[in-house]
Order: sequence, then structure tokens, then C-alpha cells
Amino acid sequence: MPRLLSVLLLLCFATVVRAEPLPMKEISAGVFVHQGIHEELDAGYHGDICNIGFVVGNKGVAVIDSGGSLKIGRQLREAIRKVTDLPILFVINTHVHPDHIFGNAAFREDHPVYIGHARLADAMERRRETYMRNNTAWMGEAFAGSEIIKPTLAVEKSHEIDLGGRILSLVAWPPAHTSADLSVLDDKTATLWTGDLLFIERTPSMDGDTLNWLKLIPQLKKIPAKLAIPGHGPVTDQWQAAFDREQRYFEVLLADIRKNIKSGIPMEKAMDSAGVSEKNGWVLFDAVNRRNINILYPLLEWE
Ligand SMILES: [Zn+2]
Repeated sequence: MPRLLSVLLLLCFATVVRAEPLPMKEISAGVFVHQGIHEELDAGYHGDICNIGFVVGNKGVAVIDSGGSLKIGRQLREAIRKVTDLPILFVINTHVHPDHIFGNAAFREDHPVYIGHARLADAMERRRETYMRNNTAWMGEAFAGSEIIKPTLAVEKSHEIDLGGRILSLVAWPPAHTSADLSVLDDKTATLWTGDLLFIERTPSMDGDTLNWLKLIPQLKKIPAKLAIPGHGPVTDQWQAAFDREQRYFEVLLADIRKNIKSGIPMEKAMDSAGVSEKNGWVLFDAVNRRNINILYPLLEWE
């Protein structure tokens, strides 16, 4: 092959494979976060709506949530490579939702240990078809090559991983935001990755067991963390107050739905009013709140 042609081919190949590194913030020493933007899944979604990132130790790197597509995962990997050449030892998924897991494949060649809650693999399998179909429809080409990669290490209750000079403590929670929520605490900086157990700004969405989630909040607030990275929204040291805010939304919504049920108001009507007094300060409230009512109303009817 002529030399010029092969150079051109190589250049083309390089631009295809090389991804633009995601913008990251080092929020505490060695802890890097990319904050996704608040948008709906079915309107202009490009796989970048939640908080994803990584922690760097002396021996290697742990990724915490990989983004909503292979493309985002690759951009996250490029961002890691801008910071360190250390091996990527772990890819941790905080839960099953597609915005958090579909970048997993970007790390396949690193042969990391993929880590999740003991129930995560099953949750991934049950949702595989729907997730593949919906995300392909929402993102089209931007979802190309994305796939489900299940955990190779399942956390039953708790687990510690050693990155060299820093330990990450993982806790598998009972059903709350989903059936398989995992939190990650970096002991060195007391930085807590809550996954979607904590929402800030974006209206909390319900999928697992909201009544149980509500019960867990006091326990979550006792975690010895200085700083928290919520699943969505800004990193904050005021994270306990953020849990209070989340708790208040749940309590108001539950009380409103129960009142509606008691007075015989059907779900379709309850959807316009339940929880609405909490609307202020939450993003995407109307759509997410309606979906939450759609889940909660039928459950509470049987109380
Ligand atoms: Zn979620």
C-alpha cells in the first residue's frame, strides 16, 4: 500500500476510535466526577444525564458508573487516561438504570472486575430486551456498540476494594430506588457515591421500593461522609439536607396519594395534583412525578 494512503487510513481509524475526553472535576483528591445534564430519556437523550466518574489509587483506578452508551464510556476512559496510566481495575455499577451502565463495554479490554449488587445481574437480564430496544430508539447511532455487561463480582451486603493507599467501601442496600442499589464510600477523602439513592435537582424517580427507600434515608444519612456525589445533580457537602429534601417529597407524595385513594379520586385525576406542592426546586417534575404516581397509586390502593 502506498505510504500516504496507509497514513491516511491510520488517521481515519484513529479519529473513529479516539473519543473526546469527558470534562471531569476533581472534587476531592483523586476523585473525579462528570456531571450529566438534566434531560428526559425520550427527548434528545444522548446517554449523558447522570453523574459518572472514577477514583485513582496508587495501584489502579475504579470507575463508578460508566454512562448511558459505549460512546460515553469511551469518553470517560479517555478522561481517565488524561489523568493516569494506571490500570483500570474495577468498573462499579451503582444500579441497573441505563444511563449508569451502558458505558461498561468501553472498559472490556482493561479486563476490570465488574462490580454490582448481588441482584444486579438478574435485574440486567430481565431488562435487557427493553433497554436495548428503547435506548436504540432514543439514541440511534449514538448507542451503537452499547451492550449489557454484568458484574463479575456480586456484593451481597458489603465489600471493600483496595486501589492502593485507599479503600472503597461498597454497601448493597435492600430494595429502594431499584432492587439493586449499591453505594461507594472512599475512605481516604470521606466521599460518598450514593448512586440514585440520592437525587439533587432532578426529581427522584421510583422503581424499586419507595416505602423501603424512605425507611433507609435515616440510615443513609449516618454514613460517615463529608462530601456526596448524588446520582444526579451537583456534588455537595450539604448532602444530609439533600436527603431531607428527598424524604419530604416522598412523604408529601405518599400522603397525597393516600388521601386521594381514601376519597375515591381515581389515579388519572390524582396525577394532576398529588405531590405538586413539592414541585418547586425540582427539575423535570411534571413527567417524573406522574410516573411516580403511576407506580405508587396502584400499590397504595392495597394498603
Ligand atoms: Zn436510576
